[in-house]
Amino acid sequence: MPEATDYIILPPFKNEGYINVSDPEIQRKMKEAFEKIEKESKEYDIIVAGKRIKTDRKIRSINPSNPEEVVGIVSKADKEIVDTAIEKAWKVFEYWKNLPVEKRVEPFLRAAKIMRERRYELDATMIMEVGKNWLEADADLAEAIDFLEFYAREAVRYASPQPVVRIPTENNELVYIPLGVGAVIPPWNFPAAIMAGMTTAAAITGNCVILKPASDSPVIAAKFVEILHEAGLPEGVVNYVPGSGGEIGDYIVQHPKIRFISFTGSKEVGLRINELAAKHQPGQLWIKRVVLEMGGKDAVVVDETADLDAAAEGCVASAFGFQGQKCSAGSRIIAVKEIYDELLEKVVERTKKIKIGDVRDPENWLGPVVNQYAERKILSYIEIGSTEGRIVHGGKKVKSLPGYFIEPTIIADVDRNVRVAQEEIFGPVTAFIRADDFDDAMAIANGTEYGLTGALYTRKRERIETAKRVFHVGNLYFNRKCTGALVGVHPFGGFNMSGTDSKAGGRDYLLLFLQAKSISEKINL
Ligand code: NAP
Repeated sequence: MPEATDYIILPPFKNEGYINVSDPEIQRKMKEAFEKIEKESKEYDIIVAGKRIKTDRKIRSINPSNPEEVVGIVSKADKEIVDTAIEKAWKVFEYWKNLPVEKRVEPFLRAAKIMRERRYELDATMIMEVGKNWLEADADLAEAIDFLEFYAREAVRYASPQPVVRIPTENNELVYIPLGVGAVIPPWNFPAAIMAGMTTAAAITGNCVILKPASDSPVIAAKFVEILHEAGLPEGVVNYVPGSGGEIGDYIVQHPKIRFISFTGSKEVGLRINELAAKHQPGQLWIKRVVLEMGGKDAVVVDETADLDAAAEGCVASAFGFQGQKCSAGSRIIAVKEIYDELLEKVVERTKKIKIGDVRDPENWLGPVVNQYAERKILSYIEIGSTEGRIVHGGKKVKSLPGYFIEPTIIADVDRNVRVAQEEIFGPVTAFIRADDFDDAMAIANGTEYGLTGALYTRKRERIETAKRVFHVGNLYFNRKCTGALVGVHPFGGFNMSGTDSKAGGRDYLLLFLQAKSISEKINL
């Protein structure tokens, strides 16, 4: 039987490294990148089958560190444009699905190369568009590159002959074929990685994509689509269709010609998509495939045997990395009673040292939250938290800065069942919860509707073994933070209300965009 490598030979996958943000040469390049972005044209068009379309209604993508600065002005698609994009994509699908796998992966590998070449500009775009600090932005870009490289190898594996049991009277084979035209609806919080990963997975397997970027990060998505075309991706395979989720989201999801929906975002929107997509529409020939990756209320659990300095470090990174705006953010710190006070003190001490400000300055670790709506929502949760617990650090908007800056906030002595211990806040806020012992800590950790990530700090081997069985999360970490999954290393996705556990960056992921065809031919003996 031929192997995948008979079709195309790719070197083994390796994760992309990160830039050294304190290197003066890197700092010079980043400065140039900020200047380039400030000078470049700010207009971004819709792209349907390679054709650029301008509309009168625009999304203004602003810099959350300084909302007066516009990062991009992006044309908004209407329903008619959505219809055209879907219709044209089905035409391109007839060609794209029949290309041999080596032709389909080529443009994505070339795109990864271009992304490396344009690294500083793309990092700087994310820093300005969503307020990532330098390292977070570069890690986001590295993850995006990883997705392209990893899924290229996976596409080859799925295209290679699949094992079926042999019988003497027939020749049998199983081939994976793509689904058709689908919608990719990413969030803004990993504006390169998740957007590029979801788009690549769908398209590299032979599908055509209607990419509706998040309205807080349409510019980085426009640059990615531009790069795909520069890399030789045929026009119409990936269509860039920005627009507000509230205005065109339902229309795309309900469209009878949409075959699949790949969504990452909030629980509320995900559940709505699930419901709308389940309803059969006149003329619809299939049951829509729906992949939903949603929110989290992730916990860092610390027991009495743990290295408390390492745990405190991990708690701070998990809770406040990218301002707590990660689905994997450690928004609950569950400490057993023996070490609760000591851990709290260490976490507060470390949090005091965090530098807040415009993230164009690499000295600033904590940037703004993404927009004014998020700022209001997070501040209202802090208000709720002040009645449900004791604010021991932070708790306020940073009024001296022009952007949407909120102090990193620690709420202590929170009961396990109150709102700040149960609901996703998606900001720089964490709740400290006291547990009686390790078993109680596990019960608290599992006591929300979510099940995305979790971490346990302990020195007891048997507790690690117990947590492997008991801690009900899609991504479980020991003696390290609960954020920072690497493509291929930590396939990512959660349980319960955290989604359909798609395991992005893992070997099962591309299967979500494929269907298997079993083919049998009788042998005339
Ligand atoms: P969101 O508000 O749910 O938006 C996600 C995407 O859905 C955006 O592109 C949005 O467009 C679109 N949308 C909104 N309403 C829609 C509708 N009615 N129909 C179709 N699409 C619609 O989430 P977000 O604020 O961007 O992202 C944060 C959330 O994502 C958090 O809950 C976080 O935990 C979750 N997340 C999960 C994972 C994971 O892997 N589990 C990873 C990252 C983030 P607009 O921007 O135009 O509204």
